[in-house]
Amino acid sequence: MTRTRPLPRDDLRALDGYHSPQVEVDTRLNTNESPYAPPAAFVERWLDALRTVEWNRYPDRAATDLRTSLGAFLGQPAGRLLCANGSNEVLQTLLLTYGGAGRRALMFEPTYALHAQIARGTGTDVVAGERRADYAIDPDDAIETMERTRPSVVFVCSPNNPTGTVESRDTVERLADAAANLGTLLVVDEAYGEFAQWSALELVSEDLPLAVVRTYSKVWSLAGVRLGFAVAPTWMIAQLEKVLLPYNLSVPTQVAGAIALDFSSEMEQRVAGLVEERGRLFATLAATDGIEVCPSGANFLMFRVGGDAHELWKRLLARNVLVRDFSSWPRIEGCLRVTVGTPEENDAFLAALDETLPEVVT
Ligand SMILES: *Cc1c(COP(=O)(O)O)cnc(C)c1O
Repeated sequence: MTRTRPLPRDDLRALDGYHSPQVEVDTRLNTNESPYAPPAAFVERWLDALRTVEWNRYPDRAATDLRTSLGAFLGQPAGRLLCANGSNEVLQTLLLTYGGAGRRALMFEPTYALHAQIARGTGTDVVAGERRADYAIDPDDAIETMERTRPSVVFVCSPNNPTGTVESRDTVERLADAAANLGTLLVVDEAYGEFAQWSALELVSEDLPLAVVRTYSKVWSLAGVRLGFAVAPTWMIAQLEKVLLPYNLSVPTQVAGAIALDFSSEMEQRVAGLVEERGRLFATLAATDGIEVCPSGANFLMFRVGGDAHELWKRLLARNVLVRDFSSWPRIEGCLRVTVGTPEENDAFLAALDETLPEVVT
């Protein structure tokens, strides 16, 4: 008997996995994590809380404590919150609920690769919209694309990964209004929202089909925990909850998310320090011949290399500095992205750049 392996869905065969090399280096500036550990007092309180947990029981399915504390922190009712294992699981839940076979998701390229990746995983067709030369979304153009392609879900990433671009409030309001007219869901991914000047959280209301997605992975220094959330109208949360797996959030995750909020002033200090370092890195890169750096409202900077960017990436890595290589990405050919690290890490990056850039600039 010949044996036959099961075939994955036809629409998944062309799918590539997610690629971001996890390499051991001294200076890791490639995945936009926080360079700082969360406060030791947070870890102590978290571990203490875990000592009294009834581990033989399932966790609170509604994550009541977490959603209540987080709602109070954000000034939102708990009924407007959906929590999951990283914002990627939130995005997947949004797509499972509002996307799927025969439906389309629109995103404006270049943007976070996982929006398209997760859409495809849920059987949702992907429509690529364009951006202006400064990487901001042109609202007229975007609304025209929405009316023409009728997506069920539209993604806006602000600040945008990998460019750092922050969309204006006017743009997001106009897209939300267009989405409301078309019966479309607008998802604003604010993984880096705390680094920016304004947040679409203030637009969330029962009258708009708007979900703002945030994460503990970046500013809260908890990428290892895997916790993200959506703030959305209660009627949308009720639909999302039907799709979310029951007991999706482990007890340690729920407890970490609630306790972390008691350390928000430490979080704000880390953010302020990183924003200052972003300014220093930006100024240095802007003054460097052979580099063109993009303004950023996030904890990273994308820059174009006037030479072989992939070669520069390799030479930086050879000097123990890992940044993200976007040099072969459509629309941002020749670009690399560096995460803002500690002052020492940023110095290490700048020193390595100083040595390697002249070797590759043409
Ligand atoms: C890092 C990042 C996330 C975070 O994903 P998690 O699953 O919460 O770790 C989400 N969106 C964007 C645009 C990101 O860059």
